[in-house]
Amino acid sequence: MQTIDSYNFAGKKAIIRVDFNVPLDKEFRVTDDTRIRAAIPTIKRVLSGGGAVVLMSHLGRPKGVEEKYSLNHIIYKVEELLGQKILFCTDCMKGGEMAGSLKMGEVLMLENLRFYAEEEGKPRGLAEDASDEVKKEAKAKVKAEQKEFVKQLASYADCYINDAFGTAHRAHASTALIAEYFPNDKMFGYIMEGEIKAIDKVVKEPQHPVTAIIGGSKVSSKIAILENLVNKVDNMIIGGGMAFTFIKAQGGKIGASLCEDDQIEVALGIIAAAKQKGVKIYLPTDALCADKFDNEANRQICPIDSIPDGWMGMDVSDATLKVWDNVLESSKTILWNGPVGVFEMPNFANGTLTIAKTLADVTQRNGTFTLVGGGDSVAAVNQMGYASKVSYVSTGGGAMLEYLEGKTLPGIAAITQ
Ligand code: AMP
Repeated sequence: MQTIDSYNFAGKKAIIRVDFNVPLDKEFRVTDDTRIRAAIPTIKRVLSGGGAVVLMSHLGRPKGVEEKYSLNHIIYKVEELLGQKILFCTDCMKGGEMAGSLKMGEVLMLENLRFYAEEEGKPRGLAEDASDEVKKEAKAKVKAEQKEFVKQLASYADCYINDAFGTAHRAHASTALIAEYFPNDKMFGYIMEGEIKAIDKVVKEPQHPVTAIIGGSKVSSKIAILENLVNKVDNMIIGGGMAFTFIKAQGGKIGASLCEDDQIEVALGIIAAAKQKGVKIYLPTDALCADKFDNEANRQICPIDSIPDGWMGMDVSDATLKVWDNVLESSKTILWNGPVGVFEMPNFANGTLTIAKTLADVTQRNGTFTLVGGGDSVAAVNQMGYASKVSYVSTGGGAMLEYLEGKTLPGIAAITQ
């Protein structure tokens, strides 16, 4: 397999799938340039290796050509961060001439890939009540057109780099299908490499003991992760709203706390699997409870399995954090996904912020490998200024979750297989 460090880019044009799906304000100024900034090392590697770059990305969820989703809004930011002017092609299907005359050292950015339905390969504009027959036909049509779309993109370059981890779980034209045109000239960019290495350090070749902290609101959205991780970890800390389904499943009284009654069997299955595999599950011992879902609600600490009627668990207590702290202190590898309380409300943020701090501490003090992923956990780590103090902060979102679930991601498989 080729790697970005070993590949010889001299005289070559590289088409790079980047993730420039950045937030814009009303004046179309970039409000958070993290994703563009993160892609710069990959782009610079090609240029300094003597190559030229064709950049392709999506922005937002356009339904066709929509000016507000044009990548021309972000050219200024790419130029600023890259430190050089770039060329822009206003139609990603009409880049042949510009790509053909691209000189080594130059960068060409293509317009939003999702202006074309072929990028995602899903039909657009179908009536909601369209018959199955019509839907099937429309799908077949876009799939057929997608082949030409992929071929056209591939014609712009000599090699392909995928550096968009955030869309690696999608089998789109630019994230997976295009790779087949470059059987010996395809590779990951630095972001993809970093993400894969970090997650593999937890799920493939971890140093034990391994602890996963899983939080968030729902068991239903994390079942597959819990079921996969139970085979990989030594300890599983379960917090957040989803903990109450586990408590109720074991006969606890949870008052008005969040609960998914239809997931009780699932919770029991996970507890049983953990027992069988010798995995220790740590649920909260007590909860900081509120009499309504409000930052200003009355508060009291209750044992986790005897929460009074009308009260709901909103965060974990100090006593729980103490128990968890001992587990984290003795772990060599820690994965954290999902807040352990309603951290958007300052009065119920302590548990989540304490976890962020503990992870930073054990990374610095004990050399523990700590991987943080998922929007809310990443936000908590950033809010505390700890992003550089934990081992790795994943930007992958859905892609990271699917990788943790043990699924094969099309964007990864297209490069490695
Ligand atoms: P998720 O999107 O499933 O990862 O869940 C994240 C959400 O879970 C955040 O918005 C939190 O406010 C919420 N959450 C965490 N703990 C609780 C809790 N004890 N009760 C209700 N919601 C919670």
